[in-house]
Amino acid sequence: MMIIWGKTRRQKRIGLVADICSICREIRPFEMFSISITRHLYYFTIGHGKTIGFIGVCQECSIERPLNAQKYHKTLYKDPETLRHLISETNPDIYESHKIRLEFEDKIKRKEYLDKDDRDYFISEPFVVISPMLEERFGESTKFDKKSGRSCAITLAIPFVFLCISMFFINQMIIDTIKILAAIFVIIGIIVTVVFIFFTHRRYLDRIIYPALAKSLDPLNPSLDDIKTILDRYKNLDLYIGKRIDSKRIIEEINELRTSKYK
Ligand SMILES: [Zn+2]
Repeated sequence: MMIIWGKTRRQKRIGLVADICSICREIRPFEMFSISITRHLYYFTIGHGKTIGFIGVCQECSIERPLNAQKYHKTLYKDPETLRHLISETNPDIYESHKIRLEFEDKIKRKEYLDKDDRDYFISEPFVVISPMLEERFGESTKFDKKSGRSCAITLAIPFVFLCISMFFINQMIIDTIKILAAIFVIIGIIVTVVFIFFTHRRYLDRIIYPALAKSLDPLNPSLDDIKTILDRYKNLDLYIGKRIDSKRIIEEINELRTSKYK
């Protein structure tokens, strides 16, 4: 008998905190989660697992990054009325503790001159932040996003719905027709679900990753070569961000962002 067991990453919501997002280049609300590794046997979780760290997901750009949970005064369970309130409750020293960083972000936003080293650092940073997200996401065998999950649920519900409909009829021919229709819809549902799963990663890149990279890089005005050089380094390290992200597409996304700003 084959025993299926292994380790699974789990995350548990802790609450909201304020911190600097290096993609948005602003202080933003972050939803904080604890990350733990649990053991599973036949895909059933055993125990609560050991907490290995904390991450925060920016509520504006949806990009996550590790957080030092101990530095926050507290976390808020519900959305605060204002960002100012969230800052004062969770991270009131942020203007002082991140003074230099905030000064840099102001300079970047105003498109002021930066030293070569500083500019290189700030162009590389979004890739450093996003790379672990892609490793985690693309490293998993199958990840259902909302679209493929919804399609799968509808496919599973079809036989039940048609069974209910067939109960209203006595005529065997009508019942047989309903069964054939149910089978056809289930086959279509399976095909649609498989197609959605196949494109899950691409949708994730289009919806979250490319817009985030464009947003963060736009004020630094990187050249195609700047981006290619960074991505080649990741490619040589066999990391997904180097293999799956296209430098030309980032430039296109930056241009689209600029066009939409002036509309
Ligand atoms: Zn952000």
